[in-house]
Amino acid sequence: MEMDHHVEQAKGSEFVLVLNSGSSSIKFQVLDPKQGALEAPFISGIVEKIGEPRGHIKIATTTTKMEDTRPILSHSVGLERAFGMMTLLGVGPQDLNLIAVGHRVVQGGAEFTEPVIVDNDVLTKLRELIPLAPLHNPAHIDGMENAQALLPNVPHVAVFDTSFFSTLPEVAYTYALPPKLAEEHNIRRYGFHGTSHEYVSQQLPGLMGRDAEDINCITLHLGNGASASAIKGGVAVDTSMGLTPLPGLVMGTRTGDIDPSIIFHLARSANMTVDELDNLFNRQSGLRGMAGVNDFRELTELMEDGDEAATLAYKVYINQIRKYVGAYMVALGRVDAIVFTAGVGENAVQLREDALADLENFGIKIDPARNANEDDVEGARMISTEDSAVKVYMIPTNEELAIARYSLELAEKE
Ligand code: ADP
Repeated sequence: MEMDHHVEQAKGSEFVLVLNSGSSSIKFQVLDPKQGALEAPFISGIVEKIGEPRGHIKIATTTTKMEDTRPILSHSVGLERAFGMMTLLGVGPQDLNLIAVGHRVVQGGAEFTEPVIVDNDVLTKLRELIPLAPLHNPAHIDGMENAQALLPNVPHVAVFDTSFFSTLPEVAYTYALPPKLAEEHNIRRYGFHGTSHEYVSQQLPGLMGRDAEDINCITLHLGNGASASAIKGGVAVDTSMGLTPLPGLVMGTRTGDIDPSIIFHLARSANMTVDELDNLFNRQSGLRGMAGVNDFRELTELMEDGDEAATLAYKVYINQIRKYVGAYMVALGRVDAIVFTAGVGENAVQLREDALADLENFGIKIDPARNANEDDVEGARMISTEDSAVKVYMIPTNEELAIARYSLELAEKE
């Protein structure tokens, strides 16, 4: 039977449970940190609509699936129930050789410059960082405590979205504010999506046949959230997100860069409160705000139907990417590679072509045939011409695999 094969497979490998705990959902994967980048995880699942009348849990293994719809009162109930469903499928945590749990953490502040084993001290520091990440960090802390209670005998590892950017030079992380005020309130550029920017940039030496120290690159993570980074010889030197994930590129629902005075203007002229503005800029803006949809595929469909708002949104999205590419080319001085990654970056062929169109004078030449290569949509590949001075790549990101690898590394040191 298929399931037997599946359960058999479970016995042969070491696994890491990677948890991404959000405010109303928990996404997770169980995967072998030594698996290939394009291999499906052994188990993937989502617990969503926690605290709402119709909670939902979905679990998929490489051979089978299970779903459950009923209220989920809390994160801990959700996680416990997901584990119960895995057990029914013969692959519960107790059935697997689980060597670590890796937790994705959005905001690690200036404190966490690399992944760490979660202990009480780490939890205390994460609590202190809540004012910087009021939406994310409480859910992460809750997720760690629940998972530790359910899986007390394996090391838990925290991997931070911000760590990769702890190398930013002072000129890149400093905002033009009075330094005393900035220091008192921990105001600086932190940057996010670091695990992804780092992961894709680390694929370049293999693809280019050059040492990491010799490669300067610009990485464009274009998913629901979107950010650009400048990386010099493997070290991050600038990035488009800031104190929070709000600034930079246009995103699914976030504004990206705007004139901060829009806040004062709306507060005065539209009587909007801080919370309303926060919600507007983070959840009702970006592609959704401009065109009514946050999903890039839906935006493309609207454009094909001749929707003007969607077409303008697309152009604004592209324009913003081009501005960052230009800025980072100058910041880096010499650029060897530009990388597209994440949902939009990996799949939106036309977007990639439009984002870097007419830049031959800057040494950037997309090869339309390579860019559109339907035979090889999954793997990393070069999409520029051979003679393009700046090579352009599409590289699938895999944040869960990166988190699993870090978790294995730290678990082995324990
Ligand atoms: P998240 O930031 O939630 O991890 P993803 O990296 O999965 O997001 O990216 C989600 C985005 O990728 C969505 O806007 C989605 O429309 C877009 N996307 C996914 N597949 C395609 C595709 N085939 N063509 C264009 N856009 C796509």
